Amino acid sequence: SFRMPAQIGVTGLAVMGANLARNFARNGYTVAVHNRSAGKTDALLEAHGDEGDFIRTESLEELVQNLETPRRVMLMVKAGKPVDAVIDQLVPLLEPGDIVIDGGNSHYEDTRRREAALAEKDLHFVGVGVSGGEEGALLGPSIMPGGSQESYRALGPMLEKISAKYEGEPCCTWISTDGAGHFVKMVHNGIEYADMQVIGEAYDLLRSAAGLEPAEQAKVFTEWNKTNLSSFLIEITAEVLGHVDADTGKPLVDVVVDSAGQKGTGRWTVISALELGTPTSGIAESVFARGLSSQRSQRAIGQEVLEGREEQVELPEGFVEDVRQALFASKLVSYAQGLDMLDNAAAEYGWELKLDEIASLWRAGCIIRAELLDDIMKAYAAAEKPENLLFAPAFSKAIAEAVPAWRRVVATAVRLGIPVPVFSSSLAYYDGLRRKRLPAALIQGQRDLFGAHTYQRIDREGTFHTQWSGDR
Ligand code: NAP
Repeated sequence: SFRMPAQIGVTGLAVMGANLARNFARNGYTVAVHNRSAGKTDALLEAHGDEGDFIRTESLEELVQNLETPRRVMLMVKAGKPVDAVIDQLVPLLEPGDIVIDGGNSHYEDTRRREAALAEKDLHFVGVGVSGGEEGALLGPSIMPGGSQESYRALGPMLEKISAKYEGEPCCTWISTDGAGHFVKMVHNGIEYADMQVIGEAYDLLRSAAGLEPAEQAKVFTEWNKTNLSSFLIEITAEVLGHVDADTGKPLVDVVVDSAGQKGTGRWTVISALELGTPTSGIAESVFARGLSSQRSQRAIGQEVLEGREEQVELPEGFVEDVRQALFASKLVSYAQGLDMLDNAAAEYGWELKLDEIASLWRAGCIIRAELLDDIMKAYAAAEKPENLLFAPAFSKAIAEAVPAWRRVVATAVRLGIPVPVFSSSLAYYDGLRRKRLPAALIQGQRDLFGAHTYQRIDREGTFHTQWSGDR
């Protein structure tokens, strides 16, 4: 019997793929679905087949046969080799103009390579960053598509339809060519790492310095969620801190092993930042903090053999509010660093990245969604685009107001022996940006002495080398 072809095919029906397929179907699209092993396809259709118009297929051939042209095939398989394996099987089945979409967390360099290879065959390859986790995939994620602009004409409207909406505006827009979408999603995740770490540092200070129990802190974070910190991550922090373990009656956070996992996107962000030469210290420190938390054996020894010699500190008045302001300022720095990285990557990869649009599509659906992003969008939409987010008048003013509290908090943490790697490194970055003279002049002298690396002078054009005296 004849049936209307599907507008999109989804292969890979684990949680993310199944939820995206349901999202397309719930939005009125006919969706052809496929999974390497048929069990997941059947499970999806059994549980949710009545939510919309699905076409069950058992092979990639069958999937492709059921699609209208140009065909849109979305891969939601495990990132890495599986993506290449599926592309290799898919390509011989496709025709020029068809669109292969990778919605997984692929590395942007892989996406660039795949895009170039498929372009040679007149196929579009679109790497799409999808943020929002399982729930976002179903109810509306933030979507960051790369690939050719031409492919966006055939694909964009569908992605915009299933995306999250911020005041009615879709949280999806074409980012730029080839791997730009996956790159922006990667940096989103890097910022997410920093955002989570600064919340962790605030929690530790409130707990260890101010003695606030998790249940009390749940209330503090609920209040903070009504301030300029208002965000999904602050909201869920209140929920996590308020949660009591059913087995022990203790706060859940006290029975969880304090060793943070990671899947790699934070690490990728830092590696890329190092390659680009962008100082993303907040993101880097947050990845390192997870690393240190996981060194459980060393930490067990460190607790025994390393002395803290902490000081007695009388907490400054209004310490809780100080911590809130330090958290806000450090968070702002992490966003500034992540966005700076996007600017540098645009120059490096020939992308045209519009930071106002990127901030706008992070306003809903994704993990870092926050009220702040609306202000960030406005800062970059201004006629004069700031070279650094912190230079936008609204933000330089906001951070200046937070500085006194920020300094008090970092100083207090240091004296008490409470590690605040992102609070403190963000403050160092801020002070570094403000500083008239950096000790880099001395480093240039050292480099010239041991390696004849030369230096430039403040008073004359040209390149200089000094005849250093002394036998070494
Ligand atoms: P996953 O566990 O990463 O991958 C499982 C899927 O990949 C299954 O459908 C599996 O098929 C398929 N697969 C694995 N190797 C394959 C191969 N060689 N050939 C064909 N299919 C293969 O699934 P997921 O958790 O749903 O994640 C999918 C993608 O989204 C990943 O890139 C992941 O990193 C990303 N993700 C994003 C978020 C987010 O918040 N944005 C959250 C989670 C995941 P079988 O069933 O036959 O084994």
